[in-house]
Parts: sequence; structure tokens; C-alpha cells
Amino acid sequence: MANSMVDDMRRVREENPFESMMERFDRAAQKLDLNPDLYAVMRVPNRELKVYIPVRMDSGRMEVFEGFRVQHNFARGPAKGGIRYSPDVNIDEVRALAAWMTWKCAVVNVPFGGGKGGVICDPSQMSLGELERLTRRYAAELIDFIGPEKDVPAPDMNTNEQTMAWIMDTFSMHARHTVNAVVTGKPVELGGSRGRREATGRGILFVINEAIKRFKMTPPNTRVAVQGSGNVGGIGARLLHDAGYKVVAISDIFGGIYNPAGIDIPAALAHLQATRSFEEFPGVERVSNQELLELDCDVLAPCATENQITSENSNRIKCRILAEGANGPTTAGADEILHENGVFVIPDILANAGGVTVSYFEWVQNRMGYYWREDVVNERLQDIMVASFNDVAKYAETHAVDTRTAAYMLAIDRVAYDTRMRGIYA
Ligand code: NAD
Repeated sequence: MANSMVDDMRRVREENPFESMMERFDRAAQKLDLNPDLYAVMRVPNRELKVYIPVRMDSGRMEVFEGFRVQHNFARGPAKGGIRYSPDVNIDEVRALAAWMTWKCAVVNVPFGGGKGGVICDPSQMSLGELERLTRRYAAELIDFIGPEKDVPAPDMNTNEQTMAWIMDTFSMHARHTVNAVVTGKPVELGGSRGRREATGRGILFVINEAIKRFKMTPPNTRVAVQGSGNVGGIGARLLHDAGYKVVAISDIFGGIYNPAGIDIPAALAHLQATRSFEEFPGVERVSNQELLELDCDVLAPCATENQITSENSNRIKCRILAEGANGPTTAGADEILHENGVFVIPDILANAGGVTVSYFEWVQNRMGYYWREDVVNERLQDIMVASFNDVAKYAETHAVDTRTAAYMLAIDRVAYDTRMRGIYA
């Protein structure tokens, strides 16, 4: 077979999210010497639903969309995870993301399993009315399978607090009373949690604060490069800047800006908001997204999208700490190289778990009917992120493994313990 074809096949395999997740799962399960029965049960999802969603389009024509919901594991509580709308979402991707949610919730020790949903559609080509009808019918199809005690969806790619409000309303109309704990990521006025919007970025700040202590660094002498400037990257960069870190680079999908002396992040984000681009922002060098990853910095925070650090470029990554804000920014093929090069990885299932942690707080507040002040939310988030970081770091030391394997081992160990205690209903 021609070399380029072999390379292409390796890359496709390396970039398949399900393969990446399974490779890490298998590595951790092996290290844990996981009981074969538990292994057989935990490596597959509990349930996968496929639904067909008829929607009356504005033109009067009927279109039928395909949707999924994967409920990966319920051992520790209801399934939890986002719903994404995208033309190329597929069951493999949703299955991988659902499993990731199981491990993420277990790493931060919140009482949820993992779930994920997706609808194959192109929201950029749909009107608000079409999106509302699609969302309501999708929610109606899932009605027997979701609920505060069963499965609690949240926003993900191309879905937002409006989508959650529609799902909450549809579910409530069928229940004949308001059930706001059926989804998280709702508007604050409808039972959303204060601090949810910033939670993922804030969680990243908390784990980076812990990581730099290990290298005897302090924020002013820590140079951070952030890929992405959306909910995770933009808010993360601003919070890091406010905490005294020297943020030397930031990007959006079109490219990034770099200044080794540090960037005025609030000004750069205001410029981005005003002009929809970092172009023309003064006093910085322009870099591509690939160049940004390879900059000389202390902390690299990929907060944009998956498969950014691969077996191809991982040898050129210069940071001491890699804080994975995005889901799956590093492929399994890059793990070993980063480990050999001494990069301290704060893996995605830990680093970006601030979002699901505050989603858990939202669900708790909905069930209590009592809402917390933002400083209370942030303080409780800090407690969980710091404790989880230390749990993973300690696990890595005790078992002499890298931090990603440690995070998976800790998560699998927790899910396995609960599964064993409950017993497998076979
Ligand atoms: P977002 O849409 O708000 O922002 C994404 C950012 O990445 C934007 O700046 C965009 O320009 C940039 N980007 C998109 N595609 C890119 C590409 N191919 N190359 C370079 N930059 C690109 O999304 P978000 O909510 O910030 O999520 C970012 C990542 O974090 C995703 O992987 C998401 O799954 C993960 N995540 C998000 C949350 C959350 O609470 N929002 C929680 C956990 C994980």
C-alpha cells in the first residue's frame, strides 16, 4: 500500500473520537486489571436511541431529521450530557462523547452517568421556528427516556439556553407541571445557575492554579497560550488575565495573535466582539492556529476543537503544562510523546469539567427550589476542581502513570466500584 494511503488511514483512525476514547479506556482498564465482567459491561453504552423527527418547514414541506441519544452509564446516577445539532454528527461521535461524560462526571465525583445527543441538521440553514419545531419533536420522542432522575441533557455544539428552554417546556407540557431539572444550561430566569456561563473557563483557571504550584511558578511569570476564544477559551483567557497570568497568545478559527510580553486580553476580546476578528488588533504578531500550539510558553490551553495535538506535531509542543479546555484536543497517538517529553497534561475530562460541575449545581438548585449566590457557586466549584486535580495527581503518583491514564483509571475505578456494589443485573 502506498505510504500516503497508510498515513491517511492512520490519521483517520487517530482522529476518530470513539477509537481515541476506547484506546484510553483500554489502557486504563488494563492498568487497573479490571475484572472481565465489569470490563464487558463498562466498555459499551447502556442504551442508544435513534429517532426520526418530522418537521414542518417554513415552506410548508415536511422534512424528516435523524436524531440520537446515547445513555452510556447509569451506575452513579442519571445520564448527563449535551445535545449537538450538526450536519455531520454521527452515532460514533455521540457514543464517544457519551462515554467521555461518564468518565468526566466520575473524575469530579458528581453523581451522574454519561449521555449525549445529536440531531443531523444544519442550524445555519434553519429559521428559529424550524429549530423550535425540531427541538420540541426531538424532546417529545425522548420523553420516556429523559427526566431529572433518568437523563439530563444540556447544550452542546449549535444548541443553547433557548434550546434548553424549549426542551424544558415540551417536557413540562407533557408532565402537566413545570419540571426545570430535566435539562441544565437554562436561562437564569428559568432556573439556570448563576456562574454556569463562566464555569468551564473558571474551572480551567482553578486547575492551572494548582498545576503551576508543582513547578514553583506564579501567575505573573507564567506565559499562557490559549487556542480558541469562545465560551471556554475567551472566558478562560480573561479569567487567567484577571488572575495575573501573562496570556501571550489567543486565537479564533481564522488564526491567532501573539505577544511574548503579554496581551491585554479584555481589549483583544472587545476588539474581537466589535470587529468579529483579531485582525488589526495593534501591537501583536499574527500566528496560525498550528503555530500557536508550538509557541514557546509555559501553559498551552487548547480550548477550541478536537484533534489539534497529534502524533505529527506533538514533538514540537514546547509548553510545560497542557490544560485541555476543549474535548479531545489531543489524540491518543500523541499521549506517549507528550509524556516522554515531560509535558504535564491536565486531561480534558478533568480540565473542562467545571461546566458539568456547575450543571450539577443547577440540577441540585432546581430540585431544592433554592438558588445560590454566584460567589457560593464559584467557591463550591473551586472546592471540587481543586480536590479533583489533587485526586488525579495523587493517583498518577501512586500508580506511576501519566495524568491522563490516572484520570481514566480514577473514573473507571469509581464507576466499577459502584457497578460492583449494585451488582450486575444479568
Ligand atoms: P465556542 O463555539 O464558544 O468557541 C469555539 C472557539 O474555537 C471559537 O473561538 C472558534 O472560532 C474556535 N474554533 C472553532 N473551530 C476551530 C478550529 N478548527 N481551529 C481553531 N479554532 C477553532 O465553543 P466552546 O463552548 O468554547 O467549546 C470549545 C471546546 O470546549 C469544545 O471542544 C467543547 O466541546 C469543549 N467544552 C465546552 C464546554 C462549555 O461549557 N462550553 C464544556 C466542556 C467542554
